[in-house]
Amino acid sequence: MEKKADLNIDKKSDLNMERKEDSNLDRKSDLNIGRKSDSNIDRKSDLGISRKSDSNIDRKADSSISRKSDSNIDKIFSSFIENNLFKDKYVLQTSYTPETISHREEQIEQIASILAPALRGERTSNLFVYGNTGTGKTISVQCVKNELLKRNDVGKNNLVIQYINCKLKKVSDTEYRILAELIKKLGGTVPATGLPTDQVYNKFLEMIDNEKKLIIIIFDEIDHAINKISDNFLYNLTRLNSELSKSQISIIGISNNLTFLDDLDPRVRSSLSEEEVVFPPYNALQLKDILRERAEKAFKPDVLDEGVISKCAAFAARDHGDARRALDLLRIAGEIAERNNCAKILLKDIDSANEKIEKDKLLESVRTQPKQFQLTLLAIIQYTEKNNVKDLFTGDVFNAYQELCTSTRTDILTQRRVSDILKEFDMMGLINSSVISKGRQGRTRKIRLSIPSQLLEKVKEILYESLNL
Ligand code: ADP
Ligand code: MG
Repeated sequence: MEKKADLNIDKKSDLNMERKEDSNLDRKSDLNIGRKSDSNIDRKSDLGISRKSDSNIDRKADSSISRKSDSNIDKIFSSFIENNLFKDKYVLQTSYTPETISHREEQIEQIASILAPALRGERTSNLFVYGNTGTGKTISVQCVKNELLKRNDVGKNNLVIQYINCKLKKVSDTEYRILAELIKKLGGTVPATGLPTDQVYNKFLEMIDNEKKLIIIIFDEIDHAINKISDNFLYNLTRLNSELSKSQISIIGISNNLTFLDDLDPRVRSSLSEEEVVFPPYNALQLKDILRERAEKAFKPDVLDEGVISKCAAFAARDHGDARRALDLLRIAGEIAERNNCAKILLKDIDSANEKIEKDKLLESVRTQPKQFQLTLLAIIQYTEKNNVKDLFTGDVFNAYQELCTSTRTDILTQRRVSDILKEFDMMGLINSSVISKGRQGRTRKIRLSIPSQLLEKVKEILYESLNL
């Protein structure tokens, strides 16, 4: 631990301090500073900074360095404390529940009238809610849920509403886990693994059918669960009522993926979407209203420069009318202004915030790609660097990919599969590609990387790390 703390101070001081040290040190002065030198000692500090150093440097991490840097750290910390633009940053976080939900009256009323029969003890129709990410689906459904439960007459209706977020891996990886989570929420227990699924299923049935109840289960981000498990599971759930003697169950599915229903088995589709509610994207004016209300609570007075809210709203409206994006832009712009020691959030901070979000999104998507995708991407990068070219063709990618698979002892996919991967890269914006005709020899795809050059090193680093290269 002591070593770690020393190293952090050592690193921070890189930013401002003069240091005498070995000439073979190659330093990068960004927030994720990484250094390489000739030894193999590799240590990770609390900040996630890793470095390789030789023993000379270890000796350097001593008290004289920490004393010198004390004053700089003082400066950073005290100006950070003084220059606090936020009154309550939590208000801009997704987990915060706003007091009012504007511009969703219509959808909330629709959902309320679909679920209202529950208050008379009647089973409600299954409901499918869909719309782009950040269009207020989750908060709207939660709002109706809370209002229903407030009016629930315990002992008469016995309404139970359970919410499951299928995006959480530990909850929705398997049918078993979803059932276990539901049982847990209903007050029962199941071993983490070990029981056959049909036994867990029976336990679930017993728990909900022990007395007369009306059960509504909300599966948020349901498309994530069904990607990993079969839609058979949903089929079983929607058919559950025929196995229940006392209780009744209905399902609410919420999805960001607009074509999710199309991919389902037709039987599941029709029973899941007995009713549908669509959440359209917000326009810039609506986003402005949402932001204004949150900004008032989140920031100290006079912190926002003229036009900041409009600009965040305009950016987010362009990006599928996503309120989450709008809130993130505002929060990150605030953090950037604070770090720059600025008393106001300026319009240019929104641009920086937008760049940061785009960058994080891109790096995250590279990090979470399947292995074969990562190999294909690395093959493209290596080929362009080795041959010093910008454009390459499907055949070049495939050859480079094959070589990489051979050297990493990975199974090689067919050229057709690699072409599919390239199409996906194109849709994700990692590459630009166009089909060109080669006359009699058919057609090929011309490919160009569209990862900004300043991110390329970072992307490579991520790929090397995930592929263990
Ligand atoms: P979705 O589930 O459609 O992805 P959410 O309901 O999670 O979207 O909303 C995303 C973020 O935007 C949340 O922080 C939420 O509080 C906020 N938000 C969305 N719509 C509104 C609205 N109409 N009024 C206030 N905040 C909203
Ligand atoms: Mg949601």
